[in-house]
Amino acid sequence: MEIKAGYDILEALGLHRRHEAELISCPTCGRCEIDLVDIVEKVRQRLPGDKKHLQIAIMGCVVNGPGEAREVDIGIAGGKGFGFLFKKGEKVRKIPEDRMVDELLEEIAHMT
Ligand code: SF4
Repeated sequence: MEIKAGYDILEALGLHRRHEAELISCPTCGRCEIDLVDIVEKVRQRLPGDKKHLQIAIMGCVVNGPGEAREVDIGIAGGKGFGFLFKKGEKVRKIPEDRMVDELLEEIAHMT
């Protein structure tokens, strides 16, 4: 854990090059409407290695999630059984929760 914390500090200072995309997720709370931890883990496992320049956010609700999802290259704000997809600050479409991992990864695969 200490080594991981050390890397996180170096990354934050811009002293260490990331070897994977930056995946941001919320800590979850009572507002969370999707199975966030499972979705984030599945996305993390399948993230392609050539997208390390991208910032990706997966947020648990439509109350506070869109703010963060709009700030990054691509993000999701979860609703009840669905999520809103945001790309470069724009709301793009609604995705059912069971398609979220696949569709997010498809979108990421097409991003340069
Ligand atoms: S984004 Fe929503 S679900 Fe996630 S911590 Fe914030 S308020 Fe809770």
